[in-house]
Amino acid sequence: MSNKVAVAKELADFLVQIEQRSQFHAGYPYNLSCDYSAIAKFFNFLLNNAGDPYVEPDFGLHSRKFEQEVLSFFAELYKIPENEFWGYVTAGGTEGNLYGIFLAREIYPNGILYSSEDSHYSIPKAAKLFRIQHNVVNSQINGEMNYEHFEQLISENRNSPPIINLNIGTTVKGAIDNLDKVIEILERHQIKDYYIHCDAALSGLILPFIDGAPQVNFQKPIDSIAISAKFIGSPLPCGVVLTKKKWVKKVETAIEYIGSIDTTILGSRNGHTPLILWYAIQTRGYEGLAKEANTCINNAQYLFQQLKIREYPCMLNKFSNTVVFQKPSQGLIKKWQLAIFENSVHLIVMQNIDRDKIDTFVNELLLEEGLLKNVGDYQLQPVLH
Ligand SMILES: *Cc1c(COP(=O)(O)O)cnc(C)c1O
Repeated sequence: MSNKVAVAKELADFLVQIEQRSQFHAGYPYNLSCDYSAIAKFFNFLLNNAGDPYVEPDFGLHSRKFEQEVLSFFAELYKIPENEFWGYVTAGGTEGNLYGIFLAREIYPNGILYSSEDSHYSIPKAAKLFRIQHNVVNSQINGEMNYEHFEQLISENRNSPPIINLNIGTTVKGAIDNLDKVIEILERHQIKDYYIHCDAALSGLILPFIDGAPQVNFQKPIDSIAISAKFIGSPLPCGVVLTKKKWVKKVETAIEYIGSIDTTILGSRNGHTPLILWYAIQTRGYEGLAKEANTCINNAQYLFQQLKIREYPCMLNKFSNTVVFQKPSQGLIKKWQLAIFENSVHLIVMQNIDRDKIDTFVNELLLEEGLLKNVGDYQLQPVLH
């Protein structure tokens, strides 16, 4: 076999494998139903957005125009005026978290980081990288911060400004920390100097579209927010971080070599991801994204009800698309790529997990649990709302 033929065969095999794995993928929060072929031609070009997204560099192969438009969309969604915000397209939720906590440390060099034990592992990583004292706050059973414990820790450390990471949708249980309660506690203890970073990796593009969901935005005293492209869906992992311009002014340094200012964590930055996000926003718009968010939340409630009416142990946080339930067999976990923790797994209802897929999954689960003789004589119940 010539090398050319061998390479073609390797790639064809890999394509089949990835297509199959994408069909049955339910444990991780990735929207897999996107088609970016319209912008595929740009993958034959180098695009590097190194440096600040708002400073035009000498180097011409970049997509800043698109990055700025993406950031403006997020700024509007998070209610921060055009002239007051700053942000950039990151390599993902992790970089956004690192950035927010780095900024906080620069503003409050002797600050103490507080975050619940259900925080994503990038939060303790930030504490380690930036050498910030980290006080871990206990969690409630649903994954939300234990506010009594938070208050106790705050009152015991009155001399150091708190740097607080709030989870707006935890990784494992989809719990939302209560911003209003945290602000109330800070006010009760008359703490004026504090920094609130919001890790809204997944729910950051869901909550703004859901009626009655908690309002987390810059009209309240938050300082930065990190959102991952999980919900928008992107073949290249990425995300967005937003903060206040006045904070960035404190930390920026001019770098002659790139003809820009060094405001970002990374040097070279992906220039294709802003294009991907821009295309997604342009083609789906506010309305389209809102519809997707509501469908995912409704479908998660549907899955939850399907399990609950059969008394299968399960849990679903309000305004979350992460359904937690008792661990099934290894076979099902492997097939559906479910994420395991202790005796539980979760299934995250993204755009590619429609009701048909949920029905298939529930049938397989119940069949395995011995609650059903076969799929054929089984009728799924209507949704209970
Ligand atoms: C996934 C996730 C992250 C990390 O995002 P990446 O894009 O994978 O870097 C951070 N926080 C939460 C809550 C997450 O779910």
